[in-house]
Amino acid sequence: MGQGYQYSPLDPKNRQIRLVTLESGAWSDEICCNIDVVSFDGHPIYEALSYVWGDQKGRKDIRLSDHLFDVTENLWMVLRRLRDPVDSRVLWIDAICINQKDNNEKSYQVAMMGEIYSSCRKAIIWLGEDLDTTEAGSKSIVASRACDMLEMLGADRHLDQLPCFSTGDGQRTEISEEYTIHFEAFREFVSVPWWKRIWVIQEMVLPKSLKFLYSSEEFSYEALKSVVQGLRIHGTTCCKQYRYALRALAFDPILTFQEQVEPMVFTRETWTDQTPTTLFYLRRQFSASQASQKRDLFYALLGLVTSWGPNTPLYPDYRISQKEAITQAVFKCISEQGGLEFLQGERIFRGKEDMPSWIPDAHFTTVPSQWVIVEQRRLRIASGFSASASLRQDASELTLAANGTLLCQTLKVGNIVDVGPVCEALEHFEEAPDIFREWMQMIGIGMGDWPEQPPPGGSQADIFWKTMLNDSVELDTSENPFYRRTNEDDYTQLRNLWLMLLSPLGGFLASKLSLSLKSHDDLMSQAPSTIYHILVCLWHRRLFRTEKGWIGLAPENSCPGDEVHVLLGSPAPFILRRLDESFKADGQTEAIPAYNIIGNAYLHEIMFGEAFKNDGEKSIQTIALS
Ligand SMILES: [Zn+2]
Repeated sequence: MGQGYQYSPLDPKNRQIRLVTLESGAWSDEICCNIDVVSFDGHPIYEALSYVWGDQKGRKDIRLSDHLFDVTENLWMVLRRLRDPVDSRVLWIDAICINQKDNNEKSYQVAMMGEIYSSCRKAIIWLGEDLDTTEAGSKSIVASRACDMLEMLGADRHLDQLPCFSTGDGQRTEISEEYTIHFEAFREFVSVPWWKRIWVIQEMVLPKSLKFLYSSEEFSYEALKSVVQGLRIHGTTCCKQYRYALRALAFDPILTFQEQVEPMVFTRETWTDQTPTTLFYLRRQFSASQASQKRDLFYALLGLVTSWGPNTPLYPDYRISQKEAITQAVFKCISEQGGLEFLQGERIFRGKEDMPSWIPDAHFTTVPSQWVIVEQRRLRIASGFSASASLRQDASELTLAANGTLLCQTLKVGNIVDVGPVCEALEHFEEAPDIFREWMQMIGIGMGDWPEQPPPGGSQADIFWKTMLNDSVELDTSENPFYRRTNEDDYTQLRNLWLMLLSPLGGFLASKLSLSLKSHDDLMSQAPSTIYHILVCLWHRRLFRTEKGWIGLAPENSCPGDEVHVLLGSPAPFILRRLDESFKADGQTEAIPAYNIIGNAYLHEIMFGEAFKNDGEKSIQTIALS
């Protein structure tokens, strides 16, 4: 065998790509491939492989056009599964067909990937090998059980009628004993890394035809779609309460499946519609996906973008720095929208990353999946607000300045003078009543054991309980609007929860409350959707008060001295921290105030554009966000 394989450069003018022919062979034979350069415009026939590269350690050699070539073990394993004893097959495989060491080639091949997946005869989606299948090419029991689960969940039945669930003591939902092993298999199935990788979105949406391969087993896209549709229809209507109870009981494989797969199926089903697809929309839709190169969180979606609004398209560029690439991509998204809703999100997972504060974590780093779900809920709640009325950013003011500074228009609405403790209700559920009481003390309301009648409208107590719910309640619907504003019944609901929380230890005498598993179950069975909504509103939030006595909920890092601003075009206000040094743009004489973004917030008095009434618009100013 010769030396390692050497690529010869492709000709971008002729839109060249490389294709791999996988030669026939027996299970244990060495894997042999040939590589050919073809013009994409000659309509070559091939299957495209979708897989994750996987661990870089333990790479394996294959033979590529009579030279040695090393691939990751995961790729090596799928090549072994795909190889036919008699026939060869022609494939497009990114790790082999793109010279990964050539950033120029990579930039324009990545720009062609949308077309490469749209034009393939079929995409083969490789979810991974079951490493317990020891015998050569044998059947995987885990994979076959996971496929059984898919079939059962796709049968369009009420969730409580699925044989995998049973109702135990005290109406608790449990996994039926005979299905425990299937659940385990399904858990493994949903946790294969393929579902998480951002590249797989276009690889699943664009091809005319798809085939899924999970170890020894095969299933169709239609099987997957039936499960998604069944869970969606039942989970948002007839079986909604059941679904919340499942979530609370951490039957997470089904829920994880839904969170991960539903947006993919939805995008595949709707992508060919006439509705234009923007990068902004796609990035939001797939905020839970991951990439090893951060810029790929945007670049991997470019093949699906059909509208750039007033912008020129974004092109992949692997030659610039990570920070530059991300900053440009986020700026494309906000200038396309003329709004700054894209800047909403947490800023607590960035570590020491050199990234401007105006870019939320989710656009460049891995956010824990629990947080992704909470953020998606918060964005959905925020989509019902209109803090900046109908005002958008003026295109001439919205600027990406030197070193990643963003110039934008804002209206300052207040200064934070006081903050309460942080609510960590998911980690420390038992502390919630104490936090509530401290918050009430901070703003000077004594609600006792919460009066039976709702407090008078507009009173501090009235604003307090509405703030706890972000003045919104989820509707039983899968379409916008997802929320309505609160009413008296919601007060009663909240009061009942409060009384229930306190009951185990006899109310206010207890300084600390310990919540038994039983009372936790009681709570969850009585009002799971309300509890879930409150957790979303309050998690890692703290109550704050402005100099005008207005109250709201802010990110945990907020502190007195921070300012509340409405950035034009954002439905929710932001907490900003003034920097000592002002910003002076090149060629400008006047310096403008500079800030860091702490995060978005809820401030009860201004969520529906109130700040812009009575000449508020006159106070709009341009600021610099670092
Ligand atoms: Zn149902």
